Amino acid sequence: MAAPCIFCEIITGKLPGDIVFQNETVTAFRDRYPRAPIHILIVPNKHLESINSVTAADKELMGDLILIARKLATDLGISETGYRLVVNTGPDSGQSVQHLHIHLLGGNKMPLMGG
Ligand code: AMP
Repeated sequence: MAAPCIFCEIITGKLPGDIVFQNETVTAFRDRYPRAPIHILIVPNKHLESINSVTAADKELMGDLILIARKLATDLGISETGYRLVVNTGPDSGQSVQHLHIHLLGGNKMPLMGG
């Protein structure tokens, strides 16, 4: 049997998570191993493995993820200083959890991507 998805378990409360936002379609929680002063994961409640699993039926959900990222950036005071949204997809990107998520990173000056 496949191992349970840790993000599904955080969403349903079976595993502890530092949840900062939740509604009927999206959950956001602090990354357990933060790589920036603010590091939040924004996750669809529905299990989608990655961007590769997204279909046209998920258009509204994908919009919700971005709007919630924007709201959290504002609420956490980094909308003006700036932030980075990252969606790792597949092995070359280093995706380590197979449940689609957007990283919201901010709170300090970040190196240029690829720099
Ligand atoms: P990625 O490498 O893009 O798949 O990102 C997965 C993220 O999940 C990493 O930044 C991990 O630090 C984070 N992570 C793994 N396990 C947990 C957990 N139990 N609670 C919160 N974040 C986690």
